[in-house]
Amino acid sequence: MHTSETIRSQLEEILPVVQKPGRYTGGEFNQVVKDWQSVQTRVAFVFPDIYDIGMSNLGLAILYDLLNKRQDVLAERAYAPWTDMEAALRSKEIPLYSLETLHPLAEFDIIGISLPYETLYTNTLNILDLAGIPIRAKDRNEHHPLIIAGGHSTYNPEPMHAFIDAFVIGEGEEVINDIVDAYQAWRKSGSDRSGLLSSLARIWGVYVPSLYEAHYFPDGTFAHIEKLIAEAPLPVVKRIVPVLPPPPTHFIVPYIDTIHNRIPIEIMRGCTRGCRFCQAGMITRPVRERPVEEIVEAIDESLKYTGFEEIGLLSLSSSDYTHILELVKAVSRRFAGKHLGISLPSLRIETFSVELMDVLKGSRHGGFTLAPEAATERMREIINKPVSTEQLLETARAIYSRGWTTIKLYFMIGHPAETLEDVQAIVDLCKAVLAEGRKLIGRRVQVNAGVSTFVPKPHTPFQWVPCDSVEQIELKQSLLKRELRDRNIHLTWTKPEDTLLEAWLSRGDRRLAEVVYQAWKFGAKFDAWQEHFNYSAWLKAFEAANLEPGFYTHRQRLIDETFPWEHISTSVRKKFLTEDYLGSLRGQTRIDCRERCFACGILPTFAEMRSQHPGEVWQCPEVKPKASRRTGIFTADEIVANSEVSIQLTKSG
Ligand code: SF4
Repeated sequence: MHTSETIRSQLEEILPVVQKPGRYTGGEFNQVVKDWQSVQTRVAFVFPDIYDIGMSNLGLAILYDLLNKRQDVLAERAYAPWTDMEAALRSKEIPLYSLETLHPLAEFDIIGISLPYETLYTNTLNILDLAGIPIRAKDRNEHHPLIIAGGHSTYNPEPMHAFIDAFVIGEGEEVINDIVDAYQAWRKSGSDRSGLLSSLARIWGVYVPSLYEAHYFPDGTFAHIEKLIAEAPLPVVKRIVPVLPPPPTHFIVPYIDTIHNRIPIEIMRGCTRGCRFCQAGMITRPVRERPVEEIVEAIDESLKYTGFEEIGLLSLSSSDYTHILELVKAVSRRFAGKHLGISLPSLRIETFSVELMDVLKGSRHGGFTLAPEAATERMREIINKPVSTEQLLETARAIYSRGWTTIKLYFMIGHPAETLEDVQAIVDLCKAVLAEGRKLIGRRVQVNAGVSTFVPKPHTPFQWVPCDSVEQIELKQSLLKRELRDRNIHLTWTKPEDTLLEAWLSRGDRRLAEVVYQAWKFGAKFDAWQEHFNYSAWLKAFEAANLEPGFYTHRQRLIDETFPWEHISTSVRKKFLTEDYLGSLRGQTRIDCRERCFACGILPTFAEMRSQHPGEVWQCPEVKPKASRRTGIFTADEIVANSEVSIQLTKSG
């Protein structure tokens, strides 16, 4: 039996022999340590990759801050141990533990796992195993922690359905408290685990997979999902918060370097641009902005409480934040002379973006990032990111002429209807940008071209299309490698096998759970790490599960096919996605939906919420309040039933 004391004494032996022991000790400035006995509920938040990466996850920082504000709850942290630490833990039979108080994870009431991307799945299984918790949900009982998971990848939760008790679909700030409340009520009730699961299923935004059964057609395609108890909602509608709560400011300050040593402040959630490949843009609607004053105050307070010297002003499309100029001016005025590095990622391709960065007077060393995603205007229309090549070159000129020497260009290959000419255009565009730079600043100029491969993600207008095959990807990549040989152009790309893994896991159905399990058994873990990615383990896992990998990746879906993720509702209607997909085939684009609402489905679903928060808070049109509407929290059924309410458009169109 391990206690925090026995773990502490064993760590003294093993920490001196592992890399970066600072990953495993906790004790950082701003961590929250509460008395274990004095709270009702103990929650461990887990990021299934190493500390260096997980510490930069803003979602977990928000939830850690929120739950630790409750007197009756403590929240602690755990991360995946690197392989040397895992070997040491296993050899000494030390269970995985929390950093704050060194309690074994199995002693917590609730374990909340962050799954922002699919390549964390095998690590999740490994963490449960290291914690001594049964990996499959069906093998856990009242004495085991409740395992919940949330994050963008859980918008298709099915490949992980066998391992997670309940998924949070959508935003976590409110639902995490509802889950803790339901857990506490269940503990008092003394009922069995199934009682807990059915009470969780009644919470808006919670999906309990064991309460549903999937059915398939004889050809292997997905038929439908059946709910097994009346209380289980169908569909499960995502949870959102009407207004972004105040941002956390007491960030934990690590002892060791992490991927982002900076204060992350979210300035806006959601995106109105409608890029067809972008899952985040579809699932995080509607756009909600934070007031400028709140952001500036949050930066001020975070600087006082952490000592960080870099701020990240985060959003999916920073240039679209309504008061962006006012914000950058306020930030540069207020923090002038403090030598802060301020990053403003995800800027649009326009000279205004360069002017914004100029106001911030940020470092020129890291380069200026532009993400055209495709190199021909035809292709950019197909993906609905219309920007002209001339506009891109003009932006490049503005960047080089203001002192940057490096431009990073992000592209994707494998978009629908892409030809080799579109790939050749990536080469031509990189060379054209380089030529502009040479004219302005000479030989110091640098272009970094990052070319990833498109994966058609669930809940996007491209969810019907197949992925490129390995042969197609290799052909396109060899063209890029052959043609982009200039010493001032640095090309990076994604290995085709990495793309296939992402596609299998993001597009999979419930049968993929067996593949994930078998792959982990065959040794797969740290799948996002080049040096660990074990492709053959995944191929063996498909064989063991008697499934064909190409069925998930290379099959064009019929337009009326039911997807295995369709019972998870982002509130963006399938009809909207279908029309947008068909529009892409005709080369039609859709403008920013702040200029014209395309009735994607968000407003009918959340009409009540919008009517209670009129004005600029949301970027969707206002909705007339209805006398009959009451205020308060709505159940999932009420949210679904809201689909027919009328909306009043106050913007053009
Ligand atoms: S409801 Fe209209 S404005 Fe709001 S996200 Fe959907 S299309 Fe855009």
